[in-house]
Parts: sequence; C-alpha cells; structure tokens
Amino acid sequence: MRRKKGNIWRPCDLLIVGMVLALAALPLLPRGEEGKTVEIKVEGETVRRLPLDVPGDYTVPTGNGEIALRVADGAVAVVSSPCPDQTCVHTGARRERGEAIVCLPEQFVAEITGESEVDAYVG
Ligand SMILES: [Zn+2]
Repeated sequence: MRRKKGNIWRPCDLLIVGMVLALAALPLLPRGEEGKTVEIKVEGETVRRLPLDVPGDYTVPTGNGEIALRVADGAVAVVSSPCPDQTCVHTGARRERGEAIVCLPEQFVAEITGESEVDAYVG
C-alpha cells in the first residue's frame, strides 16, 4: 500500500515542479526586445512598420525623393535624406521605445513603439 501511494504522488510532484520551472523561466525570455517596431510616418500617415529585431535597409518615398533607413542591432537610423538640413541623418540610431527620428522638411517620422501600442494607431 505504501509503495503504491508513492507511485501515485510522484507524477503529480513532477507536474508541479515542471509548472513552477516554466513559470520561473517566463520573465527570463527576451519578449520586450522582440515586441519593438519602428513606425514610419510620412505626412502624418503610417506608411510602414518594421520590426527592430530584423536587420535590413529600407527606402521610404517622401515628397522630395526618398529617405533611406537602416535597421541594425535593434536600432533604426536614417542613412540618407533629400532634406537640406540633414538633421534626421545626424540624429543617429534610435533604439528605445518612445524615441523617434524626425525630419521636418520631409514630414517624416520614424517612431519606435511596442507591439501592444501598435493597435492604438489603427484607424
Ligand atoms: Zn531630414
């Protein structure tokens, strides 16, 4: 009888231990980094959304030409722009949620948002 009781409890203990381990591991996953996106707006309209964890080069057409963007190392930067002041190019790379690269002459904004915030912009 005692041996059987032990056999009944063992799988339950394993389940509980497994669940506790799974819960403990959840906050360790890098979910925050994966959720970051950069939202590209031209003349107030969202034209593109790019994930910050996927490196790549992109061009965005504006009124005077096109702005070249680079996503690398979880950050976004304006590589070139037809604007006269080049402030957006000199802004450099941005990687934190809420930060933005703005080009006033081209009415261009690249704003870093989280995945949960994206829905708020729809409509
Ligand atoms: Zn500019």
